[in-house]
Amino acid sequence: MARSAGIHHVTAIASDPRRNLDFYTRVLGLRFVKKTVNFDDPSTYHFYFGDEEGNPGTILTFFPWSHVAPGRPGVGQTLETAFLIPEEALGFWTERLITLGVTHEAPTRRFDRTVLPFRDPDGMRLALVATPGLVGKAWTTGDIPAEVAIRGFAGVTLLVDRPEPTAAVLTEVFGFVEAGRTENLVRYRGEAEVGGYVDLRIAGGFLPGTMGAGSVHHVAFRAAGDADQAAMAKALREKLGIAATEQKERNYFRSVYFREPGGVIFEIATDDPGFAIDESLEALGTSLKLPPFYEKDRERIEAVLPALD
Ligand code: ZN
Repeated sequence: MARSAGIHHVTAIASDPRRNLDFYTRVLGLRFVKKTVNFDDPSTYHFYFGDEEGNPGTILTFFPWSHVAPGRPGVGQTLETAFLIPEEALGFWTERLITLGVTHEAPTRRFDRTVLPFRDPDGMRLALVATPGLVGKAWTTGDIPAEVAIRGFAGVTLLVDRPEPTAAVLTEVFGFVEAGRTENLVRYRGEAEVGGYVDLRIAGGFLPGTMGAGSVHHVAFRAAGDADQAAMAKALREKLGIAATEQKERNYFRSVYFREPGGVIFEIATDDPGFAIDESLEALGTSLKLPPFYEKDRERIEAVLPALD
């Protein structure tokens, strides 16, 4: 059976693009991996943040819409997006969030890890998960050295009425396995440590959420390539009766989409070709990249996009 190693990327909605860019690059120290536009609406940016190479499992993307209303978290939505940090970096980050005035909660224990929940400027719920023995490469900035830097995603928490229908997608289509359970939380894991878990928080009777600034729009899961993606889409159709969309060319990966039975939009994205397809590794994120079909409109597109500096 084809499996998904874990999360490929998470895409969310922001308001002010400049504030979003500043928070993720300066406060959290992620690399600005790609500056492009929403392929379905080129008057809007699409920002990609990640590790040094923009590896799958590290990519958080945003559609910043300056005047969008705040979203409201609820059933059928992603409640929290969590990053991996080295275990010994917890003190550094707690102090940093305090110093920079970032809204945060007290560290808490969850499945034998210490978790530090916080919010981005749009109220998006984030967390840092202190994890021993991390090996992945980190992107470093002037005030965030490698030994404390974020190492990609830990995982996401979805708020669902009942866990079983969503769990069926995770286990029967993606090959995740149950890895922990408390009264109102069930954890499923893929093989990868980076982006490896999906927690289902059971919230029977809660209101559905609304999308807006601070909301996660969708969670994308990794496929090694087209064959694995097709096999997972086939398993989804044959085992669960859910049809994914046709494959869409996203320049940096190829994707299919579907809404899982709990209400969250899922995507299956290929690991290839990655972000170095249209600019060198050294230059990632430094200039506005457009897909070939928008190149002819570059001048017009650049004129309507908000200034970032
Ligand atoms: Zn996506």
